[in-house]
Amino acid sequence: MKTNRHNLRVALYGRFSTSRQNAASSADQLRAGEKYATQHGWTVVARFTDDAISGAYEHGRAGLQELKQQAMLGQFDVVVVESVDRLGRNVSEVTALYRRLKFHGIEVHTYTSGKQTDLVIAIMSSVAEAQLEEIAHKTRRGAKANILKKRSAGGRAYGYVSDPKLTADGKLDKGHQKICPEEAEIVRRIFEEYAIGKSPIEIARKLNLEGVPGPRRPRKKGEIQVPGCSQWQVITILGHASRGTGILHNELYRGWRVWNQRMYLKNPDTGKRVARQNPEEDIERIEDQDLRIVTEEQWNAVRKREAVIRANMKKRASGQEHNFRDARRPTSFLSGIIKCAACGGNVGLVLRDRWGCLGHHRGTNCTNNRTKRRDVVEQRILSGLIDRLVTGESIEIALQAYNEECQALYAQWLRQSDAGREKLASIDAQINNIMKAIEFAPDVSVLASRLTELSKERKALAEAIKPVPAPMPNLQHDFSALFHERVKNLGAVIGDPDHGREASDKLRSLIQAVEFRPGQARGEVSLTLVGDMAGILALAAGNDNLEVMTEAVVCPRNQM
Ligand SMILES: [Zn+2]
Repeated sequence: MKTNRHNLRVALYGRFSTSRQNAASSADQLRAGEKYATQHGWTVVARFTDDAISGAYEHGRAGLQELKQQAMLGQFDVVVVESVDRLGRNVSEVTALYRRLKFHGIEVHTYTSGKQTDLVIAIMSSVAEAQLEEIAHKTRRGAKANILKKRSAGGRAYGYVSDPKLTADGKLDKGHQKICPEEAEIVRRIFEEYAIGKSPIEIARKLNLEGVPGPRRPRKKGEIQVPGCSQWQVITILGHASRGTGILHNELYRGWRVWNQRMYLKNPDTGKRVARQNPEEDIERIEDQDLRIVTEEQWNAVRKREAVIRANMKKRASGQEHNFRDARRPTSFLSGIIKCAACGGNVGLVLRDRWGCLGHHRGTNCTNNRTKRRDVVEQRILSGLIDRLVTGESIEIALQAYNEECQALYAQWLRQSDAGREKLASIDAQINNIMKAIEFAPDVSVLASRLTELSKERKALAEAIKPVPAPMPNLQHDFSALFHERVKNLGAVIGDPDHGREASDKLRSLIQAVEFRPGQARGEVSLTLVGDMAGILALAAGNDNLEVMTEAVVCPRNQM
């Protein structure tokens, strides 16, 4: 810290956050900071801003990063912000940055309350941390109280319906459940069939064939659920033993409510919620025999069968070179691209090294039972790409379409940005007029609100106007041979540990879809390859920057 307090160097940092009410724009924050610095006779030497939308973790904070770097280089003595919470996304980030700045002898000031001290930061973080704990505690306590009152904590399990009860004060309490006889029958059947050795696939397939509706999935936000269309799947029945999921592991069926099996944590890097298994001692169980569906014998028979399967798997794993369940699933350049022609679902690697309809193998109604060896499928698709998909003529047509589309797109860009700039100029003129009027007007409140409106509009518009890219050169016509060469090379390096991944990505970009259709004869599979001309042209041109090829690009799709 400089001893001369009259000539400190100031860095301003502003971050706009939509989560705040009456949020000041980052430019406004900088202006206020500037004023604060001037009042203290300091010199502003650096300005940093981030206009990321609050809560959107993927938006980097380039401004804040830059501030950190310059702080380490000793470029300034004071950081002025609107409030300390601008300095990070959460308390620990703010505290960390504050400590770092302090270490470099840099003070943090807010223009509303001046210099921030260790005490202020400490109080701020302890208050926030305590609040978080309080909230977590309350949620847990609430769930536990519900269980104690024999109400359901969380969602409804298969086999039960909600059973609203009138409370003493005449209100309807919807937290209670009772057994649904039809569904309970299915639960018992699943337990019995599994215990006598039927596989979850068999069980699921039979239920689906009989038209028994499966458990409702928890609805995703905005998703409309169609009644009666939920199918039984292996995962619904089997779940994960360790997590207590799946019909076969739900302890409610033996009359025990289980609570606090999992906790949800927010990943600080991505902001996503992830489930973690709680240790056994934290899991709480409360008996409620009114809800028992399977007998203790049925429950134990399933446990016995599971133990047998586990033992068999272990034996197989130790006897074989690798255990296919544990081995990392191989990825293929076709993963996620091949679709089942019968059900429209994904075709993936099933049975070790064969492609097949995932729906069929997970027990849905799909009848497509064909599988095909992985290398055969990949070879067919590769040779299809090389030999049949790209003929000289199809390249010609695609090229022409591409070049025309590029020109049209470019013209559209020009038109849009011209219109945008005109509008921007008109807003600027209006803002200027208002600024002039404010000097003379006795009551500026009306003008001020109009000014705010215009500024907002201007900001949005300025963001919408993208710089016009350089016109795209037309592609040349002679790359059919080049394309063949490149695909061949990609095919050759696919298994290569160093470049396989990249080659695989490139190949994927050439394929729009592959249809996996059961053929006439037993075991026969017909594959339909739909090439993506955008990817094909990009690869052939040896140019990865052909990102302009959007959905809008109409081009011939070739089939084989
Ligand atoms: Zn299928």
